[in-house]
Amino acid sequence: MTSFKETTMNEKQYTAFDVTMNSAGVLTVTLDVPKRPMNVFTVEVIDELDHIITDIESRLDVKLVVFCSNKESGFLAGADVKAIARIAGPSQAGRLIDAGQQLFHRIDHLQLPTLAVIHGPCLGGGLEWALACDYRIARDNSSTKIGLPEIKLGLIPGWGGTQRLPRQVGLSQSLKMILQGKAVSAHTAAKIGLIDRAISPDDWEDGVRHFISELLHSRYRRSTPMRRRITNWLELSRPGSSFVLHTARRQIKQKEHQYPALGAAMSAIEVGLRREGAGYVTERSEFVKLLATATCRNLLNLFFARESARDIKTWGRREKVDLHSHEIRRLGVIGAGAMGAGIGQFAATHGYEVAMREVDESAAQAGRQRIEKLIKTYADRNRLSLSARSELNQRVAVATDDDAIVLSDLVVEAAVERLEVKQEIFKNLDHVVSSDCILATNTSSLSVDAIAGQTQRPERVAGLHFFNPVHRMELVEVVRGSRTNDDTITRLVAFVRSLGKTPIVTKDSPGFLVNRVLFPYLGEAVLMYGEGHAPADIDRELRHFGMPMGPLQLIDQVGLDVAMHVANSLGDVLVGLDPVVDVLGRFVDAGDLGKKSGRGFYRYRDGKASAREDQTTVPMSTLDVSDRFTIDGLNMIQRRLVYPMLAESVRCKEQQVVREDWMIDLAMVLATGFAPHRGGPLRVIDSIGIEAVYQNMRQLQVIHGARMAPPQLMADMANKGTRFFVREGSIDSRESELPRGEHTQEGTP
Ligand code: NAD
Repeated sequence: MTSFKETTMNEKQYTAFDVTMNSAGVLTVTLDVPKRPMNVFTVEVIDELDHIITDIESRLDVKLVVFCSNKESGFLAGADVKAIARIAGPSQAGRLIDAGQQLFHRIDHLQLPTLAVIHGPCLGGGLEWALACDYRIARDNSSTKIGLPEIKLGLIPGWGGTQRLPRQVGLSQSLKMILQGKAVSAHTAAKIGLIDRAISPDDWEDGVRHFISELLHSRYRRSTPMRRRITNWLELSRPGSSFVLHTARRQIKQKEHQYPALGAAMSAIEVGLRREGAGYVTERSEFVKLLATATCRNLLNLFFARESARDIKTWGRREKVDLHSHEIRRLGVIGAGAMGAGIGQFAATHGYEVAMREVDESAAQAGRQRIEKLIKTYADRNRLSLSARSELNQRVAVATDDDAIVLSDLVVEAAVERLEVKQEIFKNLDHVVSSDCILATNTSSLSVDAIAGQTQRPERVAGLHFFNPVHRMELVEVVRGSRTNDDTITRLVAFVRSLGKTPIVTKDSPGFLVNRVLFPYLGEAVLMYGEGHAPADIDRELRHFGMPMGPLQLIDQVGLDVAMHVANSLGDVLVGLDPVVDVLGRFVDAGDLGKKSGRGFYRYRDGKASAREDQTTVPMSTLDVSDRFTIDGLNMIQRRLVYPMLAESVRCKEQQVVREDWMIDLAMVLATGFAPHRGGPLRVIDSIGIEAVYQNMRQLQVIHGARMAPPQLMADMANKGTRFFVREGSIDSRESELPRGEHTQEGTP
């Protein structure tokens, strides 16, 4: 990785760093944290870097200091999140922030020029380190990602990121990066002035050497376009910054009480702009405060849950998955509709050869167009060369016969949602592909067993439930049929992981996990609509709860016909669906299918929703029976819609739809956007207290009937006063407090 270095002499040896000096006076400090696939800042790494900087401060022979990484995986992915989660209290947090702030302050104030050479992820503390340098250059390919993602963990950058970034890229741009936590590419970083140069991967080593030579010979002059200079100056001026900050405060206002890091980041930036130096103090104290918030704990727990999901090998065991062990190279896809095209395109961009089959030539043609469009969007976003685009297009073929499918290692069926069609497809596939090929169905509501039963290989048949749109939705449910074997699940989990997605292994029961937990909530919203409540009132309250959109907006987006289909398939596990199907049926009969037909619970013009003209509404005050309920921080609408989801989550645990509790929370957050700051349905129960949730469900049952009946497990846990997760927000809190084996079971369900 550091082959741009010329003949060098080794200096003192460190555990995580290699320090070398060349004859031109370039001191290269190369980071390679041992036993880690990716560099992260740990206390030991900070300590060693501190020693290196002390040494540099006293040297006269160094002309330039270059910081780089020896790992192909990237520069530095930030601070070690496990270490952050283990911080014992405010004083330890304060010391950690101080150490980083002081170290980067000393790098910033070195008397010699410093350069950060970036490739791959340069995130969080990695970017704060790079920002303390005088110059930054980066490799211009899709793996380079530069940003400050702390907000996603409910935190703010603590090592000067909120202070140096605005001065480097201007106020608006830095607010965007810090408040959204989104990383930018090398190309964008160069455009906004975050780095000095984006260097093509083909020219990487020469390009770095050339830049170093320019610095050594004082030939490099940073040229900031006049327009950007003026904008940055205006934005950082007192009236300019007041205006930009005021606008940003208005934008975060709705979310600030759920995500306090938004307001904290703004305060640190604002104080820093008014008085240099004071901003670091605010950054430090805000970081320490945020670390103790419930939002931060919940987001950290989701982070660890996601890590654990990636280590799931089979239903019963959790161990590291070797991503190269699944032996799936060629993928077959049946059906090139919305889902099939998405799966085909996504797998192709991850290096798979994809053979797809459609019913006839016109469907195949439509499928090819869908895939080409998806590939174009992907290629534009990642600025792929013409040759890379054409290579990608050639990796996916859509045909109307089985010839190309024959060679597949895995076939994913994404044809229409009709059991007899899927059964016929699987019967045929069984003869067409080799005996060790895995067959998977993308069904969202049909039984995997009923499909697998048509083949001679039910042990190599499973569900692979991608969500729509495939390229955006991170979760994939890997559905284990009653005869699916461990090897099949292991290979499918590894396949999902190789796509960069997060797998959750579920039992083959109606709705699997996500649709089953989500539907009681959607159904309740439909019933409220049926009672005459305005969709806008219902949706607003659920957005306030923290959902990305309201339930009726969501049904309009998914399609009322699809929602009705899902409702019909859940009859075996959910109670009281008939009136929901009745209301949905009236819409479907009238051709009002939601956004796609221009009318659903809302009316759509140019994609914008407004109230239907025929909408009747009863005032929300008719729901005011709140004095019967134990205080839980929710209002009546939220309670009526969210509690059924909480109850169904507990039922899924009771019936072992998934193996561990955290899987329920993670899946609901990733697949439905369930208020991430609350950590997921089971954590909501823990935070309210299971006794209060149980009592409130009993009240809801009195008012609304059997569909609100609390599950037996909820009653038992309320009786014993147990929780799903241990109280503290440490990584160990994923373990249920219930004794192992009482509600969970080893091995195949
Ligand atoms: P779609 O109607 O857009 O596409 C289905 C495609 O399958 C069509 O192009 C059709 O021509 C093709 N097809 C039908 N019979 C076939 C056969 N015998 N051989 C080959 N191709 C055949 O449907 P979709 O939305 O892509 O859904 C596909 C599957 O994915 C369904 O099982 C659905 O339940 C599931 N699913 C859909 C969503 C969603 O939001 N659309 C989400 C998750 C899962």
